[in-house]
Amino acid sequence: MSLVKLEYIWLDGYKPTQSLRSKTKIEKDFSGKLEDLPMWSFDGSSTEQAPGGSSDCLLKPVFVVKDPQRKNAFLVMCEVLNADGTPHPSNGRATIDDDDNDFWFGFEQEYFLWDPATNKPLGFPSGGYPAPQGPYYCSVGANNAFGREIVEEHLDAIIEAGLNVEGINAEVAAGQWEFQIFSKGAKEAGDQIWVARYLLERIGEKYGVAVNWHCKPLGALDWNGSGMHANFSNSLLRDAGSKEIFDKVCEAFRPVVKEHIDVYGADNDKRLTGKHETASIHDFSYGVSDRGASIRIPVMVPAKGWRGYLEDRRPNSAADPYKVAARIIKTVKSVEA
Ligand code: ADP
Ligand code: MN
Ligand code: MN
Ligand code: MN
Ligand code: MN
Repeated sequence: MSLVKLEYIWLDGYKPTQSLRSKTKIEKDFSGKLEDLPMWSFDGSSTEQAPGGSSDCLLKPVFVVKDPQRKNAFLVMCEVLNADGTPHPSNGRATIDDDDNDFWFGFEQEYFLWDPATNKPLGFPSGGYPAPQGPYYCSVGANNAFGREIVEEHLDAIIEAGLNVEGINAEVAAGQWEFQIFSKGAKEAGDQIWVARYLLERIGEKYGVAVNWHCKPLGALDWNGSGMHANFSNSLLRDAGSKEIFDKVCEAFRPVVKEHIDVYGADNDKRLTGKHETASIHDFSYGVSDRGASIRIPVMVPAKGWRGYLEDRRPNSAADPYKVAARIIKTVKSVEA
């Protein structure tokens, strides 16, 4: 007999931004397979998910990977269900009604490594500011790149866990970084981003460094905010072969700006100002190679005879990738209907 540690991970009910929660379940002789994972429960009254009088919420395992850092352990992403087995209102994953894996997503997750002692990003002196933006993006060297040991440990961990990471880079602000994860299927894309976020938070603990997911943690100062650009495609876009199809899909986003912004993360008005490589939250625009547009058509798309994907640049770093993917699928599918 051997005992394994199963870390059940879920999203709490806090508004407007949900956070990760988790607890450990010890099981005997676990096979490693999702279907062999039992349901579990937690106290929803401590996570804004249930009243104290009837506080149990259910945890339904939906995605499992080997824990790359803990001995004899797995990470188990869960959906939250009500006691009667129906999806809890906080459960964005359950709002994905399409999961045939024809939709592919590549999320670019930006974030700040944050010093809890100074309440500033790594690389910021405790009084005042570092040199203005310019040298930090894709930088090397102790004057410009801050927290690389955490970023590298995280990269190794997500590779070891089997997540489909495609790259990392230092970002435009000091202490700001990005990782990219690509997945086929909206649910899987969200699962992978959330598990990657979980591992980053946990690794940060070891260094006494927090992760700040807020989209504009330095406020109105002249520092970039954090996004989670959503690159997406389905066979309609991958096989399009004409500019008209790309225009039609982009135009389908125009009348539903509000519906998209509603799930693209809290405080996005502070980030989508029209400055710092963003479009204004009040406008809708798209264009080839245009990093000031709401949706960018990558330069490779026309070069490949109008085949490929689109980048919605509006989702922010704190958005729930399940909700973002669900909404994008809905809009793109309205074109095919
Ligand atoms: P940039 O910083 O130039 O916007 P990145 O290289 O950081 O771009 O991210 C682009 C992402 O696009 C990649 O991570 C990749 O996963 C994603 N991507 C590439 N091709 C497709 C596709 N056909 N469908 C969906 N996503 C894609
Ligand atoms: Mn207890
Ligand atoms: Mn990028
Ligand atoms: Mn970026
Ligand atoms: Mn991008």
